[in-house]
Amino acid sequence: MKPPPFEYVAATDLTQAIEALVEGDGDAKLLAGGQSLVAMLNFRLLGPAVLVDINRLPDLDFVEADGDGLRIGALARHHALETSALVAARFPVLAAAMRHVGHLAVRNRGTIGGSLAHADPAAELPLMAVLLEAGIKVVGGAGERTIPAEAFFQGALTTALAEAEIVTEIGLPALPPGTGWGFEEVSRRAGDFALAAVAATIRLDGDRVHEARLAVTGAGETPLRVDAAEMLLRDRALDPGSMKAAADAARAAVTPNDDLHASADYRRHLVGVLAGRALAAAGRRARGERP
Ligand code: FAD
Repeated sequence: MKPPPFEYVAATDLTQAIEALVEGDGDAKLLAGGQSLVAMLNFRLLGPAVLVDINRLPDLDFVEADGDGLRIGALARHHALETSALVAARFPVLAAAMRHVGHLAVRNRGTIGGSLAHADPAAELPLMAVLLEAGIKVVGGAGERTIPAEAFFQGALTTALAEAEIVTEIGLPALPPGTGWGFEEVSRRAGDFALAAVAATIRLDGDRVHEARLAVTGAGETPLRVDAAEMLLRDRALDPGSMKAAADAARAAVTPNDDLHASADYRRHLVGVLAGRALAAAGRRARGERP
């Protein structure tokens, strides 16, 4: 299918892009990598009057150190994160997750800003943003603000972005040295969206867990940090019993729907299995062992 007609604006700076969105008065859409938007236009799920292409905006395509953390520009492509030496060194869990985003052609075009703003309930980058406690910087007519990832994702394809606001970058605070990580995903075919995916980080203090994070995607409207599972692990020895209790808590916390691809029960089951595997891998890495 072909998209409905639209006016095309190739913005050359942020101000022009924001002005075009404001003038569009709710009927303009940003075009970044086009990997989600163009499909929705072609299927006539959307019919904006104006498309504002932001691919020519300078200074939004970067992956930079920020202290021991990272700043990532909204126009950085998935493939840049997958292959960046900085990402591999500081956030290897992010590099691992990016390999599961669609196919190479999709990852070559799809952008970080587009993936966050699109907020697909099974997407990997929103999961990473929630796990890694990203700050999402947005700019609009009313100025600039930074939205914590957990407040950014409000529902399936729904975010805290106000009309005419543009995601410009995300900031990832440093993970302490020695943090172990695990990422587990099941999809029907390579490149498909996840039926469910789970990511974990663990930091040990001797034998005990100092900090544990566990986040899930594909099993609810938004990515979810499973606080109940994290609390069960904190200040305890990391052993099969505590990991099983945390995986059970993750399974109990999610609220998946039945759909074409899987039943809610199957997705819930997957979350428990994947949480157990992600925690075990994170624990082994935190101990300096092979995952
Ligand atoms: P676009 O498609 O250009 O835009 C998407 C939406 O975000 C639009 O509403 C647009 O207006 C808005 N937008 C774009 N940039 C900004 C910005 N800076 N600020 C505010 N709003 C903005 N994704 C996954 O996560 N996992 C997968 O497994 C996966 N598989 C895929 C398989 C296929 C075959 C395809 C075609 C896509 C797949 N995707 C997957 C989607 C892909 O990751 C997209 O790149 C991503 O969802 C959107 O990024 P984009 O840059 O292409 O955004």
